[in-house]
Amino acid sequence: MKPIPYGRQHITQDDIDAVVETLQSDFLTQGPKVLEFEQKFAEYIGAQFAVAVANGTAALHLCALALGVNESSRVITTPITFAASANCVRYCGGSVEFADIDPETGLLDLEKVRQKLESQPKGYYCGMIPVDFAGMPVNLEAFRKLADEYGLWIIEDACHAPGGYFFDSNGEKQMCGNGNYADLAIFSFHPVKHIATGEGGMITTNNPELYEKLLTLRTHGITRDPAKMHENHGGWYMEMQELGYNYRMPDMLTALGISQLKRAEAGLLRRQEIAKRYDLAFQNSPDIKILNPAAYVEKTSSETLHAYHLYVIQVEKRKELYDFLRAKNIFAQVHYIPVHLMPYYREQGFKKDDFPLAEAYYDMCLSLPMFPSLTDEEQDFVIASVKEFLQHA
Ligand SMILES: *Cc1c(COP(=O)(O)O)cnc(C)c1O
Repeated sequence: MKPIPYGRQHITQDDIDAVVETLQSDFLTQGPKVLEFEQKFAEYIGAQFAVAVANGTAALHLCALALGVNESSRVITTPITFAASANCVRYCGGSVEFADIDPETGLLDLEKVRQKLESQPKGYYCGMIPVDFAGMPVNLEAFRKLADEYGLWIIEDACHAPGGYFFDSNGEKQMCGNGNYADLAIFSFHPVKHIATGEGGMITTNNPELYEKLLTLRTHGITRDPAKMHENHGGWYMEMQELGYNYRMPDMLTALGISQLKRAEAGLLRRQEIAKRYDLAFQNSPDIKILNPAAYVEKTSSETLHAYHLYVIQVEKRKELYDFLRAKNIFAQVHYIPVHLMPYYREQGFKKDDFPLAEAYYDMCLSLPMFPSLTDEEQDFVIASVKEFLQHA
C-alpha cells in the first residue's frame, strides 16, 4: 500500500490545462482570472464580495488590518486552530485572548466567550475569530448576537468549511463565509484544503467599505482611482494612502482555483461519504470518541452540513496509535497542538492548564485520512488498522 496522507490535493487534466492556458496569456500576476475566481467563489459561498490573496494567513492579516486592530486591541479566538488564526492579531500589535472549547465539537465555546466578555467592562475586547474547526460550521447567528451586545466584530476563519452551512433561527440556510453574520470570513487554498491552488486565499464579505479597503491593502495601500486621490499629476499618477502589502494571488493560480471550484460540490459529497463510512465503522468501538456533529445540533438547535476538512477521532493511546499507523504508511495527523502552548504564546504569558478542555482534547485527538480521492480500499485499510491497534492496545 502506498503512503496514505491525512489530506491531499486532487489535480485533473482540466486543472493543468487551465493553468497552461493562463501561462500562455498576457498575465502572470493579477489578470482577468482573479476577478473571475473572486466572482465565482463569492457566488459559491453566497457572499457579495470576495478578494483573492496570496494565502489564508495573508487573508487573516488583511482582515485584522481592515478592522483596525492595533496595540490596544484584544481579540478572542480558540486555542484549537492553526496558529495563523491568532497570529493575525499579533501582526498588528494586538493581544490574543483565548476561550476554551466545547469538548463535544472542538469548537470555540460560546458560553466561555460570554463569561470572558462579562468579566470585563464593555469595550475591553474588540473582536473575535471563531473557526469552523474540522469543517463544522460555527453557529454564527449566536456569536453575532453576543458580539453585538459587546460591540465586537467577527472574522470567521472558514478555512475548513467551504460548502458547509447551518440553518439559522429563521430556518434560513447560512453558508460558511457568506458574510450574513460575520464581518469578514477567510479561506485558504493550501494543498490539504477543499480547493487547492498551492498557495492562495480568499476573503469574503458583504460590507462594501471593507471590500474597498481590502482591495487597496492587498496592493501596497495604493489607489489609482482619481476620485479617491488627493492630487493628480497625470496618467502615471497613483497614491499610496495607507501601509499595505503585496498579497496578490497570481492569475495562473486563480485559474487553477476556478477549475477546482467546478469540482467543489463533488468533493464535498465524497467527504460526506468517507465520514459516513468511518462513522459506521467506529460506532460500536467504545475506545473511540468521535467529534459529534449531532451534539452540536442538539445544543444549538441548528441543522448543519459538516464540510469535513478533517475526520477527528479521540483515543486514550493517541501517540501509540499514531506510531502504529505510521509504521503501516498511514500518515494520520494531530489537529491541533493548542496555540496557547506554543513557546511564542507562552512568552505572551499563557501556560499549561489555562484551557483544560482544549488541552484534554489535544491529548487524545487524531485526524484520519480524509480527502476526496481516498479510495474505499485505502479507507478500509485505515479502518482495519485502527481496529487492529485497539484490539491489542
Ligand atoms: C490553513 C489554515 C490557515 C492558513 O492558511 P494558509 O493558506 O496556509 O496561510 C488559517 N487557518 C486555518 C484554520 C487553516 O486551516
